[in-house]
Amino acid sequence: MSQWLPIADIAARVNAGELQAVDLVAKALATIGEKAEYQAIITTLDTLAAARAKEVDATVAAGQPAGRLAGVPFIAKDNFLVFGSDTTAASNILKGFTAPYQSTAINRLEAEGAICVAKANLDAFAHGSSTENSDFFTTKNPHDIDRVPGGSSGGSAAAVMLDMAPFALGTDTGGSVRLPASFCGAVGYKPTYGLVSRSGVVAMASSTDVVGPLTRTVDDAALILDVMSGVDVLDSTTIPRDSAGYVGLEGSLVGKKVGIIKEYMSEGLDPGVKACIEAAIARMKAAGAEVVEVSLPTLPAALAVYYIICPAEVSSNLARYDGQKYGYSTANPADLEDSYSRTRDEAFGDEAKRRIMIGTYVLSSGYYDAYYKKAQTVRTKLINEFNTVFEQVDLLIGPTAPEIAFKLGANSDDPLKMYLTDIMTVAVNLAGLPAVSIPAGTSEGMPVGLQLIAPQRADRRLLDAAQAVEGILA
Ligand code: GLN
Repeated sequence: MSQWLPIADIAARVNAGELQAVDLVAKALATIGEKAEYQAIITTLDTLAAARAKEVDATVAAGQPAGRLAGVPFIAKDNFLVFGSDTTAASNILKGFTAPYQSTAINRLEAEGAICVAKANLDAFAHGSSTENSDFFTTKNPHDIDRVPGGSSGGSAAAVMLDMAPFALGTDTGGSVRLPASFCGAVGYKPTYGLVSRSGVVAMASSTDVVGPLTRTVDDAALILDVMSGVDVLDSTTIPRDSAGYVGLEGSLVGKKVGIIKEYMSEGLDPGVKACIEAAIARMKAAGAEVVEVSLPTLPAALAVYYIICPAEVSSNLARYDGQKYGYSTANPADLEDSYSRTRDEAFGDEAKRRIMIGTYVLSSGYYDAYYKKAQTVRTKLINEFNTVFEQVDLLIGPTAPEIAFKLGANSDDPLKMYLTDIMTVAVNLAGLPAVSIPAGTSEGMPVGLQLIAPQRADRRLLDAAQAVEGILA
């Protein structure tokens, strides 16, 4: 059991004067300190958080409403800019960079009284599936300290399951909210592309980057999405919220048509994971869902497509880190050119360099048509297949990952093996769809995540179904 109440209840009690924001912040920071061995956190924001907590308590004391998230502590992945604090994206090249402004997502949470208490570990620049690509240290899985928490938002997922805060923010470019949720037993919500502003978030692959919450329950995730979502003038890709919002879910599966993704249930799926997913499907049928098997023939190509398009965009987005404007800069360069190349050589980690090289290669003249353009063509084919399938079913279902959390070091010498961890998450990003991972039992004592996927902008439908499934699996 969590030491935290549901998020809406915490805020209600703070607004009623029954709980003090300063105590909640102190509790979060104390838990972070007690559980330091898991290495989920890069920095704590003690002074900032204490000052904000006092403001919330003063608002309540003055008889004013302090917001729908009044006094609720949270943790942001360290690729979110929090004004005046360090933002490293777990990379050496951003060490020493202080955020001169703040991400829209954090602004919106703060406007409702939430308080950011810490910045969580990640794979550097969110490149990875285990946090082992962090330039600083690896986060440990809350259920087994010898295993990875998943990535790249591994610090955020572990922090929530370690009770450091009731929720955390992550980013999902190719699965980085859902995968660590699956490995740690959290709920990880990836909104429709554009539903949450990325302003003030370190860019990875801009055509798939999206911000999402990690929580213990679907209700909590829905509330956080409700607060963060919607158009932002600072991010031109943002889209309007559902007019019904994302709270007050109905949580029913009756009459819902659900498609099991054939390609995700076949060879390569760990038998323990498969058993959990099949048990969940049986319960969904019993709860009134009509379940059919569906096939998306292009799905097996999604991983290859992603690992062309993502590095292409990464190579462009990482071009700005050249030692002149942000963070680290090499000492005593001979000239500007030398400063650029030595800074990048010294301070980018292996995975960032790998993606810069692959991305530059697939975009270079002579190879562009063979790789990047072809990948975009296959991406369109995949999107068309999703559209066709969603003419037949309301939702898609399958595992979030082909396996449970792996042992520390198991995949770190083999980038391709690491990339394979993302085989069930990346297609959703390529198509901009909303998807969620919710806990669906355990295998070998480790959590297994069930993934639900909906059409673009059907986030409310997805949350409704996820809440229903959460209820029947409890
Ligand atoms: N694991 C994937 C990658 O390394 C996804 C990362 C992410 O979603 N940020 O690209």
